[in-house]
Amino acid sequence: KLHNTILELKGNIRVFCRVRPVLPEDGVGTEATVIAYPTSTETLGRGIDLVQSGQRYPFTFDKVFSHEASQQDVFVEISQLVQSALDGYKVCIFAYGQTGSGKTYTMMGRPETSVQKGLIPRSLEQIFQTSQSLQAQGWKYKMQASMLEIYNETIRDLLSTNRSSGLDMSRTENGAPGKQYTIKHDVNGNTHVSDLTIVDVCSINEISSLLQQAAHSRSVGRTQMNEQSSRSHFVFTLRISGVNESTEQQVQGVLNLIDLAGSERLSKSGSTGDRLKETQAINKSLSSLADVIFALAKKEDHVPFRNSKLTYLLQPCLGGDSKTLMFVNISPDPSSVGESLCSLRFAARVN
Ligand code: ADP
Ligand code: MG
Repeated sequence: KLHNTILELKGNIRVFCRVRPVLPEDGVGTEATVIAYPTSTETLGRGIDLVQSGQRYPFTFDKVFSHEASQQDVFVEISQLVQSALDGYKVCIFAYGQTGSGKTYTMMGRPETSVQKGLIPRSLEQIFQTSQSLQAQGWKYKMQASMLEIYNETIRDLLSTNRSSGLDMSRTENGAPGKQYTIKHDVNGNTHVSDLTIVDVCSINEISSLLQQAAHSRSVGRTQMNEQSSRSHFVFTLRISGVNESTEQQVQGVLNLIDLAGSERLSKSGSTGDRLKETQAINKSLSSLADVIFALAKKEDHVPFRNSKLTYLLQPCLGGDSKTLMFVNISPDPSSVGESLCSLRFAARVN
């Protein structure tokens, strides 16, 4: 249980790095670009070297998962953090990296399979199991889920039963006619997004069908909006309220699991119209997230939460005694080395 102790001792923000395996579509020479330590025989270490044009760039993080780490290997290392949402903590887990580096695989994976399902389905299973076993000690939990996407600084509700909401992106600013999705925080540090669908969930099966619904509404958006999913942030939120009937203790925890937009530097030259707007929105929100995280890490007095929708939405879950973990996902593809170096440098600053 050593890893738990380390997690407790560290500051608020931890960084885990994960290298995805080589895929058939990757270019030749993939073996040489990324070296995670310890190599081959172990899936978990703390070091990673990136090799670009014969130059080695070493990095160290809280944990580094090699390409051989399974979804379960990764989950084991975050399960304690997930659990803390049941104890009343506000938790955020991000996946950061360029498109194709394994963010969605890490967060969602293939939820219908037992081996390849990602952190979101695994976390939810664990939370439901634990909440049930805590019933014996008098705990009763209420769970509420929401899922949204932030695209071009615009919130889109992925659980809206209004079927048109997935299709109206191109025509209306807010994804559905008349919907505002205004973000407000109350005095208790709870976040409210007006018009956002919030679903009471009592079982893992209910969550599974919600995940399917969200995946469907994302893919509908994608065909319409040309690969929009890699250009939008996906935010899964589970709100947990617990009451202990014998001790009258109360807890309010939040678990946010976030699949960020691809971090690749999109070339501004040649971008016009919608494309330019999209590029600017992604750059703005990822750099705002970075600014917030750096300010928090340095314990600065002013944290610029309001500079983007994403940071403003997550404000109560990023500061204070909340717990934040960022995965930096790395592709071993040789053509990705430049982007990988940017991601690792970004993550090293956070850490
Ligand atoms: P991103 O969301 O960052 O764009 P994806 O998660 O879609 O990247 O991953 C890109 C491709 O790599 C997908 O085909 C995915 O299934 C595969 N992949 C990513 N990580 C792994 C992994 N750890 N094991 C096996 N396949 C992976
Ligand atoms: Mg993805």
